[in-house]
Amino acid sequence: MPHKSGFVNIIGNPNVGKSTLMNGLVGEKLSIITPKAQTTRHRILGIVSGDEYQVVFSDTPGIIKPAYRLQEDMMKTVSTAFTDADIILYLTDVKEIPDAQLPYVKKIQHCKVPVLLAVNKIDLVEQADIEKLLNGWREIVKAETVIPLSALHNFNVKELFNEILRLIPEGPEYYPKDTLTDRSERFFVSEIIREKILKNYKQEIPYSCQIEIESFREAADIDRIKAVIYVLRESQKGILIGHKGEALKKTGTQARIDMEKFLGKKVFLELQVKVSEDWRDSQKKLKSFGYE
Ligand code: GDP
Ligand code: MG
Repeated sequence: MPHKSGFVNIIGNPNVGKSTLMNGLVGEKLSIITPKAQTTRHRILGIVSGDEYQVVFSDTPGIIKPAYRLQEDMMKTVSTAFTDADIILYLTDVKEIPDAQLPYVKKIQHCKVPVLLAVNKIDLVEQADIEKLLNGWREIVKAETVIPLSALHNFNVKELFNEILRLIPEGPEYYPKDTLTDRSERFFVSEIIREKILKNYKQEIPYSCQIEIESFREAADIDRIKAVIYVLRESQKGILIGHKGEALKKTGTQARIDMEKFLGKKVFLELQVKVSEDWRDSQKKLKSFGYE
């Protein structure tokens, strides 16, 4: 058998379960998952390899209208998702109404590569309603591409993967077989901090934070990590730190526990909060923070 390989871009609106699905496919917690919309800021690759195949999944930021600079950049990433993949995996969920998604569906069907449409979160509805919903989707996309799914409960994920394997072309391995992602440990460590901030703080706070790993020193028994959380305003710094530093301490402890699990090692985590005005609007600063 010739070796097969391909790139699969997972696209869809925020919160439909793209990150959950990719983590399920790869079998690792690569992408942060929270009930808040728009938690995936960067594109993250998840790589699944076998003896005769390699599938590279890309978890793209959700489809959203650009409201400010950062979101515009995210939209560019979404647009390139249409052009550089072997397969588009369009993810929707049982809450989305097919007709309302028609503009996206039309745009997606213009691309020359095969499109799979998976309807996620079917664990939330009755069997009869699932059929109705699937039929609604079949009316606007090609019938054979509609797959019911529960990423959270691992239902039909294997079947979806087999369908992907069937569709990917012959090709070489792009990454060494034991590679799970294109991102560094530094990246995942900062994502873990971001996830805890999203959990612990309300409203605009999480979206006003940018995390930078200042140093990551590895030793045999412990990793020493120094991270800076940049916020936009002095007042946000106060909220983040909290009364007597309690809030930041809680976030730091939660993050450290997850980092230890992820790295399989003890972690000493030092968290600092600094004000960096208008990082969100400044293209230059975006670049210095690692956005494309
Ligand atoms: P993304 O924005 O598309 O990446 O969505 P996430 O993967 O971050 O998931 C958003 C929310 O949907 C999280 O709270 C997930 O736990 C939840 N979710 C994902 N898949 C399923 C599923 O199959 N069933 C249910 N009930 N919830 C799910
Ligand atoms: Mg996501």
